Amino acid sequence: KRAEEDSAIQYLQSQYSTINPEEIKTFKDLPLSQKTLKGLKDNNYITPTDIQRQAIGYALQGKDILGAAKTGSGKTLAFLVPILELLFCKKWTRLDGVGALVISPTRELAYQIYETLRKVGHLHDFSAGLIIGGQNLKFERKRMDQINILICTPGRLLQHMDENPLFDCSQLQILVLDEADRCLDMGFQTTMNAIIENLPPKRQTLLFSATQTKSVKDLARLSLSFPTYVAPHEQA
Ligand code: ADP
Ligand code: MG
Repeated sequence: KRAEEDSAIQYLQSQYSTINPEEIKTFKDLPLSQKTLKGLKDNNYITPTDIQRQAIGYALQGKDILGAAKTGSGKTLAFLVPILELLFCKKWTRLDGVGALVISPTRELAYQIYETLRKVGHLHDFSAGLIIGGQNLKFERKRMDQINILICTPGRLLQHMDENPLFDCSQLQILVLDEADRCLDMGFQTTMNAIIENLPPKRQTLLFSATQTKSVKDLARLSLSFPTYVAPHEQA
């Protein structure tokens, strides 16, 4: 069983370099694990949207991404699918701690991401956590050390980083900022700086927003180097 899984993973990874967004018609045309493909299919996600078609391949290749596409274009799966695949290929287990962190500017959006993750990720064994405040801090705190994929708002995340001895993201593999322009704007500046300081610099970073964030300062803050721009239907 183990050897089978190892060779499946090796095969998937060997396909990454050959991904051509132009040739992708359905999610099946991407080298994705059976668990993710079935999770997508079970929820009637068959044909990737443009941002998904273009971003997923680069993300699987380990690139940092700046993705811009209008509201409703399917940005959520453009980052959730790579997260599931990355942790799957690394054979992440509950004991490995927080492997992926998704930061969203509002509770409502964070909740929607979490719900989508629960649906498409239902066949994977990872644990997902939603940390958005409005809940008892102690209740959240006890669960923090068992979460693999953490969806959160900036303020609440920083609160845990500051106050919770169980919170550890030293193993973080991938950071996603959803609605990145909003996460990085003035209101969250101090909070985001403090969060980023607490994250290991060696990681993959994906930024998604409805508008393009190209501020060099912002990118430097996130230690993004040579990110790939993905913006369907728009001039980069
Ligand atoms: P965005 O974050 O870009 O505003 P969302 O990720 O919230 O967009 O997706 C918008 C809507 O499109 C959601 O209802 C989602 O379920 C649906 N959707 C996303 N990807 C697909 C797909 N590949 N096929 C069908 N529906 C999709
Ligand atoms: Mg969105």
